[in-house]
Amino acid sequence: MTEQRVDVLVVGAGLCGLSAAVALADRLRVVVLEAGDRVGGKAASRSRDGWVFDCTGHWLHLRSERVRRFVLELLPPEAWVEIERRAAVRVAGTDVPYPFQTHLGALPKETVRDALRDFVEARIDDATRSDPPRTFAEFVERRFGSTMAALFFVPYNEKLWGMPLSELSAEWMGRFLPDPTVEQVVSGALGLDAHLAGYNARFLYPKTGGIGALAEALAARLAPGVVRLRTALRALDPSGRRAVASDGTVYRYQRLISTMPLPDLVAACDHVPPQVRAEASKLRAVDWRYLDVALRVPPRRPEHWIYVADRDVPFFRVGSYSNAHPPLAPPGKGSLYVELSDREGPLAEEEVFDGLVEIGVIASREDVAFFEERRIPRAYVVFDAAWNRARSIVRDHFARAGVETRGRYGRWTYNSMEDCIADGLDAARGVDDGDA
Ligand SMILES: Cc1cc2nc3c(=O)[nH]c(=O)nc-3n(C[C@H](O)[C@H](O)[C@H](O)COP(=O)(O)OP(=O)(O)OC[C@H]3O[C@@H](n4cnc5c(N)ncnc54)[C@H](O)[C@@H]3O)c2cc1C
Repeated sequence: MTEQRVDVLVVGAGLCGLSAAVALADRLRVVVLEAGDRVGGKAASRSRDGWVFDCTGHWLHLRSERVRRFVLELLPPEAWVEIERRAAVRVAGTDVPYPFQTHLGALPKETVRDALRDFVEARIDDATRSDPPRTFAEFVERRFGSTMAALFFVPYNEKLWGMPLSELSAEWMGRFLPDPTVEQVVSGALGLDAHLAGYNARFLYPKTGGIGALAEALAARLAPGVVRLRTALRALDPSGRRAVASDGTVYRYQRLISTMPLPDLVAACDHVPPQVRAEASKLRAVDWRYLDVALRVPPRRPEHWIYVADRDVPFFRVGSYSNAHPPLAPPGKGSLYVELSDREGPLAEEEVFDGLVEIGVIASREDVAFFEERRIPRAYVVFDAAWNRARSIVRDHFARAGVETRGRYGRWTYNSMEDCIADGLDAARGVDDGDA
C-alpha cells in the first residue's frame, strides 16, 4: 500500500474540482482523484464518426465578470463562438416562442382568453393572501393561473421531474421560472414584444472539441500526474484526514475539496453520526435518459432547443447541438439530443422518432444516421421539503472536519457550469498556505 502526503486532495475532475486545482496547484501539492476515464464530469464531450456530443445541451451562460475573465484566459476569445438563444415551446400541438408565459398570442384565441382570465384572477387572489405557496404545484397555479399551469407548467415539469409537482418545494423551484409582470403577459397575448428574455438569452461555446474543451484546457494547466483518472475515492476518515483511493493509495491530506455526490461521500465514511446519515438518506435526485442522434441532414427546424409539454410525446425537450454550432456535425449533417420522460424500461423508439417527425425536427426516420441511448445518473437534485435542511446538516458535518463539499453534487443543488467554476475558485480561496 503506497502512502502519499498532499496539501490538498480534490475529489472529482469536473469543472469545479479542476478550477479549484488550477487555482491551487502553483503553490501547494495538489492531487485530483477522478473516478471516470476522462476529465470534465457532466461537461465532458465524446465524438463518433465526425459528430461531437455533449451530455445533452451544455451552453455556457456567463453573468460573472470574474468567471468570464477566467474562462477567456483559459481559452482565448477567438476560441469561442457567442450564440443567441433560439428556443420554442410546444403546447397542445402548437409552437409558441420561449418563454411561453409572454407569448400566449401564438395560441388559439379562446385559449388566450382563458389563460389571461385565469392569470389575472390568480394574481389578484395571490395578492390578497399572506401564506406563501408550499409546493411547486401551488406555486405555478398561483403565479400563472390554471390554464397556463395545465397547458405547460404542470405537464412539462412532470415529464422532466418524473413526479407530481406537489412533491417539489415552491421556495426552491420558483426561482427557475422567468416571472413576468401583468403588462408583459398581456403584451405577449396581443402579439407585442414583452421584453422578457430569461437568464439564458446568450451563451458561449468552444469553437472546437465540444464543451469538453473547457475541462481539457483546465487540465492542461496542471502538471502531469496531478489528475489521476480511473481512480475513485473509496474510503474517507475525515477526523484522521486520511483517504483511500481505488488503486489502494492512501492519501494524507491537510484539506479535502470534494465534488463527488454528497450521499456517496457519506457512504465512503465509516464513522458518521446517525443523524447525519439519516439526513443524507433524504437527499433525492432524478436520473436522465436521453438519445444522442446523428442526422444525415441538418434538423428541419432551426431552434437550439424546444420544450415539449404534450404528454403524448415521450420526451420533454429536444435540442440540436449542430443548430447551435454546425461544426459539431460533419459538413451538411446535423445532430440532436432528445431528453426522455421515461427513465426506466425498454426504449419507446418508434414513439420517440414519431414525436420528432410530428414536431417537424426530422422529416422521417431516413434522416437518422445513428443514435445512442445514454444516461446521466442523478442529473437533477430534487428540491423537496426535506432538501435544504438535509444537505445543510450533511455539509456542515464535513465542513467541521476540514472537508469542503463543492460543485453541483457536493453542494447538492442546481448549479450551472459558471456556478461550479466560481465555486471551485472560491474553495481554493478558502485554502491559505498556512492552513494547508
Ligand atoms: C442534463 C444536464 C444539462 C446541463 N446543461 C447545462 C447548461 O446548458 N449550461 C450550464 O451552465 N450547465 C449545465 N448543466 C450543469 C453542469 O453540467 C454542472 O453544473 C457542472 O458540469 C457540474 O460540475 P461539477 O464539477 O460540480 O460536477 P461533475 O461534473 O459531476 O464532476 C464531478 C466529478 O466527480 C467524479 N466523481 C464522482 N464520484 C467520485 C469518486 N468517488 N472519486 C473520484 N471522482 C468521483 C465524477 O466522475 C465527475 O467527473 C447541466 C447539467 C445536466 C445534468
